[in-house]
Amino acid sequence: MSLADLLYPRKCPFCACLLPEEEPGDICPACRRDLPWTRGGGKTKGSFFSLCVSPLTYAGKAREALLRFKFRGRRAYARCFGRLMADCVRENVPWELHTVSYVPLHWLRFRKRGYSQSRLLAGAVAAELGLPCAPLLRKTRAVRPLSGMGAGDRRRAAVSGAFAFRPSAEGAAAGKNVLLTDDVVISGATLSECSRVLLTAGAERVVCVTLCRPAEGGKQGFVC
Ligand SMILES: [Zn+2]
Repeated sequence: MSLADLLYPRKCPFCACLLPEEEPGDICPACRRDLPWTRGGGKTKGSFFSLCVSPLTYAGKAREALLRFKFRGRRAYARCFGRLMADCVRENVPWELHTVSYVPLHWLRFRKRGYSQSRLLAGAVAAELGLPCAPLLRKTRAVRPLSGMGAGDRRRAAVSGAFAFRPSAEGAAAGKNVLLTDDVVISGATLSECSRVLLTAGAERVVCVTLCRPAEGGKQGFVC
């Protein structure tokens, strides 16, 4: 056992149990078996992205772990989540990908939270896939959380024009297949708007990966 393991014992992000020393992955065997995995990567298509894949359904322990990661400072979960997302991409995305980017936070929210969960995930996914990670987008205005909005049109209207391509990244998306990451997709409105901006900046194709997506057949449907 290494000193790091003694000082910081490895814990499963989903149930907080100590991982057995011989356990090679980042998840305990019980969670590997029982987490709400999507079937076939939970694939969805959108108007501006070719495909969105997610390893987990936004329910139970997956949802709770994601909320701890997002709102309670558990940044270390990014590595485990990033691996799950990268595996999901390897298994379900048929195109070669060139660069990884992420849905940005508005700077006010970034300052309040101190970190951007989608940026952490993008870095972990990029490291797993051996791809560069580039900040291509910025958020131009704060958007009320979409979770309280029902109809698809309202969600689309709320995010319309809320993102822009970073001037400093000019040319970085041109002709590239971009993998866009976020923590969770609910309606697809945010990913769709970000994808539209990336395509406008010259990206060849946008593919999205999120850790979680809604349960199939759930009340929340994709709007894009
Ligand atoms: Zn577990």
